[in-house]
Amino acid sequence: MSQALEKNQDKVNLLGMDLDELETLMECWGQPCFRARQIMLWLYHRRVASFDQMTNISKSFRTELTQRAEIRFPKLVARTQSQVDLSVKYLFELTDGQQIESVLMYDGDRVTVCVSSQVGCAMGCQFCATGQMGMIRNLKAYEILSQLMAIEADLDGPKTATNVVFMGMGEPLANYREVIKALRLMIAPEGLMVAARKITVSTVGLVPRIHAFTAEKMKIGLAISLNATTDEIRTRLMPTNIHYPIREVLQAGKEWAQTMRRRVTIEYVLIRDVNDSLTDARRLRHLLHGIPSKVNLIPYNEIEGVQLRRPSVEQVERFRQQLADGHYVAPVRLSRGNDISAACGQLRTIYNSAGFVLDSSSNIV
Ligand code: SAH
Ligand code: SF4
Repeated sequence: MSQALEKNQDKVNLLGMDLDELETLMECWGQPCFRARQIMLWLYHRRVASFDQMTNISKSFRTELTQRAEIRFPKLVARTQSQVDLSVKYLFELTDGQQIESVLMYDGDRVTVCVSSQVGCAMGCQFCATGQMGMIRNLKAYEILSQLMAIEADLDGPKTATNVVFMGMGEPLANYREVIKALRLMIAPEGLMVAARKITVSTVGLVPRIHAFTAEKMKIGLAISLNATTDEIRTRLMPTNIHYPIREVLQAGKEWAQTMRRRVTIEYVLIRDVNDSLTDARRLRHLLHGIPSKVNLIPYNEIEGVQLRRPSVEQVERFRQQLADGHYVAPVRLSRGNDISAACGQLRTIYNSAGFVLDSSSNIV
């Protein structure tokens, strides 16, 4: 480990701290309590990169801050833009050398940032590139938050995203504490001030954690990755189904929807000859009966080394129509960034792996 890095680790990282933590720190450092709020506004509203810019703080305390604290951002290693839909995949390096990916997507007026919550994932879904990496580690709240901040700083024009989705690498509810902390900082008035309703957390379906999330009563959206209509097929695709089978997962989703008076999003990845039959579509309708929900159909993005295939456009349409006949409006979500492996389930940090084509004009920073 380099000396600089060791020195850095002696410093307290203020990014990712909430008001309580900053107040405690200020108290320890013999500073008045109001400094905490001042620093918070510099960090999350003005988004300064150095203590020198915190001009309403005395010069002597700014010097002290420079010596004792830091504002730690992940290093932006590469940026790759899709030639098809302009979405951008960002590769970040964390202090310990681990790498994560985040994606910026455009859809009409919507600017969505898709963030990662873990390096790798322990859930082992057969169809998912991140699942193939295995679990490396949880991200800290500041590492989650800083993906959004770094991408927003990189935007041309308006410097804020309209939507945030936790659909990057990892299972957010398996990293519960840090994800909730990041969410709180995203929506706090002294934080990034993202509208809670514009944030969606996507889960593989960890039932006890869905209950805990419901109890938080945060106005954040919930998406459940269902991806099958029988326990047999779901268990084959998603090993967590052994512990949390379809009915329990959907029941937890229903309770969330009823408590929050919102529709739960059901994500359904369509895989050829596995879960894309019209019988599946009918069963899906049946399963969702009485659950305030909306379905997103995601044609499978093929992954290197995995034998699963994407259904034909016609089959996707037949499946969608079968749901529509039962009054379920289920938009087909064509993943953004397919040509740069930035689409759902394609995120894994094998740098320069197939499909992660470096575009020399815009990506290296
Ligand atoms: N762990 C969470 C969030 C990350 S995955 C979850 O599983 O929900 C985000 C979404 O991508 C999930 O709905 C998942 O089913 C989907 N996905 C994963 N691999 C995919 C692939 N290869 N093609 C299309 N969608 C995929
Ligand atoms: Fe993990 Fe979600 Fe991928 Fe499953 S789909 S392996 S839960 S990231």
